[in-house]
Amino acid sequence: MKLVVDHIKDTPLALQIDEAAELFPVLALLQHEQGVTFTSPIHGDVTAVREYDHLRVNGRLTTSLLLSCSRCLAEYDAPVDTSFTLLYRKDSHKMFSTDDEVELDEAELLTLSYTGDEIDLTHEIEEQIALEIPIKPLCSESCRGLCHQCGADLNIAPCSCRNEEVNFKFSALQGFKVNR
Ligand SMILES: [Zn+2]
Ligand SMILES: [Zn+2]
Repeated sequence: MKLVVDHIKDTPLALQIDEAAELFPVLALLQHEQGVTFTSPIHGDVTAVREYDHLRVNGRLTTSLLLSCSRCLAEYDAPVDTSFTLLYRKDSHKMFSTDDEVELDEAELLTLSYTGDEIDLTHEIEEQIALEIPIKPLCSESCRGLCHQCGADLNIAPCSCRNEEVNFKFSALQGFKVNR
């Protein structure tokens, strides 16, 4: 997605996109190598406005994912809805290069620079989406996961392995008492 700087006049410029995740290199990689499935295109509403010596770009991105729970392995739908604000300055000396490892507070506004008469938002958009994808996806905070011994999904029903373990401890305790 590219913004043509000359199109941003005194009134804000509004743009919409609906693009397949495949068109974003980082997202395509996540889809192919990390088991993340995009079930709808990346939808973006972007507004660009001139402010003082810079351009302010506000955007809202939505899409939906199919993720695999890291505890119980079940697939579940995960909607993504995220907003961002970026500031761009036309500059010959770059303040931040996206290749540099710059540690930034997430709340801080990142001031980027652009050269020429176009701003390519492709990388910024895919970064924003990638940040929303959990490293350890969970179908629910209270997911019980799978039994380590028999593999049963403990969200559906407790398995007998657990019961045996409890019973064993209980009987051992009883035996101890009897022996005294
Ligand atoms: Zn789960
Ligand atoms: Zn079990």
